[in-house]
Amino acid sequence: MLRQLTFILVLISISLGGNANHSGVNHPPHFSDPSFEGYFGDAEYFGQIDQISLVEAQNLEPSKWTRIDINDANLGFDSRHFWFRVPLKNIYSAPTPWFLHINYPLLDYIDVYLLADDVIVQQFHTGDAYPFEQRPINRPGFVFPLTIDSNKDYSLYIHAHTAGSFQLSLSLQTESHFWQSTALENAASAAFYAILVSMLFYNLIIFFIVRARSYLFYLMYLFSFTLFMASMQGWAYQFLWPNSPQLHELSVAFLIGPVIIFSALFSSTFLKLPVVRPDFYRILLTLVWVAIAYSVATLIVPYVIIIKVGATLAILVTTAALFFTYHEWVRNRSREVMLFIIAWTTVLFGFMLYSGQKFGILPINIFTEHAIEIGALLEVILLALALADRINSERKKRLETQQKMLDVQIIANRELDNKVQERTAELEQLNGELQSASITDSLTQIKNRRYFDYKLSNEFRRAHRDKTPLSLMLIDIDFFKKFNDQYGHQAGDDVLKKVATRIQEITHRPGDTVARYGGEEFTVLLSDTSLEGALLVAECIRNSIEKMKLEWEGNQLSLTISIGLATTIPTAVNAEQGLLKEADTYLYMAKANGRNQVIHKNNALPNNNKDF
Ligand code: GH3
Ligand code: MG
Ligand code: MG
Repeated sequence: MLRQLTFILVLISISLGGNANHSGVNHPPHFSDPSFEGYFGDAEYFGQIDQISLVEAQNLEPSKWTRIDINDANLGFDSRHFWFRVPLKNIYSAPTPWFLHINYPLLDYIDVYLLADDVIVQQFHTGDAYPFEQRPINRPGFVFPLTIDSNKDYSLYIHAHTAGSFQLSLSLQTESHFWQSTALENAASAAFYAILVSMLFYNLIIFFIVRARSYLFYLMYLFSFTLFMASMQGWAYQFLWPNSPQLHELSVAFLIGPVIIFSALFSSTFLKLPVVRPDFYRILLTLVWVAIAYSVATLIVPYVIIIKVGATLAILVTTAALFFTYHEWVRNRSREVMLFIIAWTTVLFGFMLYSGQKFGILPINIFTEHAIEIGALLEVILLALALADRINSERKKRLETQQKMLDVQIIANRELDNKVQERTAELEQLNGELQSASITDSLTQIKNRRYFDYKLSNEFRRAHRDKTPLSLMLIDIDFFKKFNDQYGHQAGDDVLKKVATRIQEITHRPGDTVARYGGEEFTVLLSDTSLEGALLVAECIRNSIEKMKLEWEGNQLSLTISIGLATTIPTAVNAEQGLLKEADTYLYMAKANGRNQVIHKNNALPNNNKDF
């Protein structure tokens, strides 16, 4: 964007410079040619709309001519036909060739006449309206080899006419001086374009890697700017399209278009205007469309008119972009935006140095002479830096966001994991509770009938396998119905709990199983226990219950139980029902025999099994 500004400022400086010269500001000699003042007398110029011939110019009244500093005649946008005349004298003895250099490559027509005693001794007709090969010497500017004898008076008549801005910077040097300064200028120009072109390739590679749109716009801008500068300085005409004066004339005006378009697009992408300030973006986009229309118009509308439109457009876009950038800087004081602003400022500074030199405030040296180029180079580099910085910080932001998302995901996963674990533990607990509930008697909290059935079949099989004795007690509380009737069901329940607890306390070996078989009946299964051992336990239980002290509503109560005890070393696998039946039989016998006793195989009454 700065370059439009640069171009515009150059144009303005040319016109201002022209005015400054009119008011008689004298410029110091050109640094590359320390002795030219010896050859030039006071220069004068004359301008009018219509062209006049050399003879007519020679015969003009002296009052029509105006003094001018021939070293730097800037006349601004002025499409009149100008005549310049300068007395020349070779104060040195050698009649060597001299090079007259007009260092402004955009002049359309130039006619140079060298006269001695009013007779033409040399003449040249060229300008950028002619093919490049028309020039006596191939340079972007116009160079005329003059032969000036010593101690002879010459006068130099130059006719020039151009549709663009008018600038005439004359220098006269010896051949060797000329080639020396040309070598220096070539080196400087080569360096300038080499840097621009390498920036172009370097950023092209980066674009292919990062594929960011801002890089693409930057590249397009850089490309059009390089071409624009080459056109302005005459290099494009010399090397790119030397046979096409039309293309040369078109290129300068036309290229302002792409430079504006791509620098505007680049700036709006860089500043993220579509997101940050859609209103600014719309303004810039409108200007881009105008610039596109302008570029098309350069193909049709005469140069003299369209170049002024281009200049105005460039000023508009530059002002808008400067304002938007400043606005973005106030909003977001990031390093990239700062670099962006510095880049702008650099070119502005370059321009200021250049015009300072043109106005005679600053000395003429290699820095002030090439201040715009130096500023433009720094700007192009700073913009690339700003762009890299922007891409980098965006990548960093993206990584941070990704990391944050990852962290959130990790935390979420961890929470999910914890929840699953909690739920699993809950379920496991519930499952355990359910399992134990399904095998526990809810009233007495000892094992229930279901568990007993399972355990009996299991232990029976094991006893069968191991050939070990298995003992089974069936216990029934005596006269419990009466007890219930007398004290109530609640007292009965309470007693059932106590009896269960007591039986459980007595049979505490790991292989022992106590269960409530139903109602007021309990079972005790003793694995690997012989009849003798089981009898001891049974007697212990019976005795313990008999002696158990029970209290209900202030009354001392007592209970007894009857036990049927059966023991077997199983000989068949699924014969546990037989054992149960045997114990049941003995229990009945105990009841029949007076209760509160243990009946087993050895004390059972013979042949009395079913009748009592
Ligand atoms: P015996 O066994 O000595 O022949 O006499 P009994 O009165 O105990 O007779 P039976 O075994 O037939 O009586 C069972 C009684 O046990 C019936 C009921 O009143 C009582 N009973 C059964 N289950 C429960 C219970 O869960 N709670 C209470 N309170 N009483 C129960
Ligand atoms: Mg009973
Ligand atoms: Mg009973």
